Amino acid sequence: MQRRQLLISSVCAGLAACTRTPSAADGMVMTVRGPVAPETLGLVLAHEHLFSNFGGEPAEPAEYDEAALLRAVTPYLQKVKSLGGGCIVDATAAWFGRRPDLLRRLSQSTEIHVLTNTGYYGAANDRYVPSAAHSEDADAISARWLREFEDGIGETGIRPGFLKIGVDEGALSEIDRKLIVAAARTHRATGLTIAVHTGGNPDAAAQQLEILASEGVAASAWIWVHANSALEIGDLERAAERGAWISLDGLDVGSIGRHLAILNRLRAGGFLSQVLLSHDGNSFRATGRAPRAYDALFTHFLPKLRQESFTEAEIAQLTRGNPQRAYTIGKRLQR
Ligand SMILES: [Zn+2]
Repeated sequence: MQRRQLLISSVCAGLAACTRTPSAADGMVMTVRGPVAPETLGLVLAHEHLFSNFGGEPAEPAEYDEAALLRAVTPYLQKVKSLGGGCIVDATAAWFGRRPDLLRRLSQSTEIHVLTNTGYYGAANDRYVPSAAHSEDADAISARWLREFEDGIGETGIRPGFLKIGVDEGALSEIDRKLIVAAARTHRATGLTIAVHTGGNPDAAAQQLEILASEGVAASAWIWVHANSALEIGDLERAAERGAWISLDGLDVGSIGRHLAILNRLRAGGFLSQVLLSHDGNSFRATGRAPRAYDALFTHFLPKLRQESFTEAEIAQLTRGNPQRAYTIGKRLQR
């Protein structure tokens, strides 16, 4: 109860109401083991999935063969740790596999920091959006997410470290629009960063930034997730110019050249301080699909950057400073 009193107790009724109480988590990163100072995270993988049941039936909370899951995921985390990783941002959302309690167990046993999320994933043709969200308004949806931030997810007491949203291909649908409005309002109440699965959809990216602006939220509160799928690097530059985070998160051994080409352009444009790197890996997929590793950053991409004359300061910025800042809780409002 004491914790609750420190936090904001109700969703914003209007823009004016939202700028009041600073959250007790302000300036911190919320991990599954509680708030920590950003710089204690070390090297951060900014978008991975320790596990999911993506492709399977929607369920919240997800059910897993827990022993098999822990057996599969633990070695991946140990490897990341041995390579110098300190934190993984887990992007598995509600309804397709989120289990904060399992994330916490893994975080405790491997001593890697892990972030989980609140929000709804409106990609995959809205398969993982709960039916209630179609009839509720944006404030009612936001109120659910805000409750998770204040009270923890389910009975776990574990609080989300960011908002994870998804939108479908093409122009934003009605539900996708509503999710972005709800995310903007939740940001205004909590300071949680808004990571949106947007992929190679620059029109949807621009539309989202318009919605955020109309809700008074700055682009610097928003992460273009899967930006590496964009066909035109110019679209990424335009979003970065507005202040957005650009998440190049599909790293694998085969993608190094493409990632490097995008990164070089963003570097030339002066946007290196807004880039996030990750693999969108997945170390346990309940649907039986093959896991996707998340170590190519260490084994291939960083060595390549060094060859390409990226300085150690730039590498530290990309892998530590940027993600630490991106996921620090704090309201980023448009004046
Ligand atoms: Zn993902």
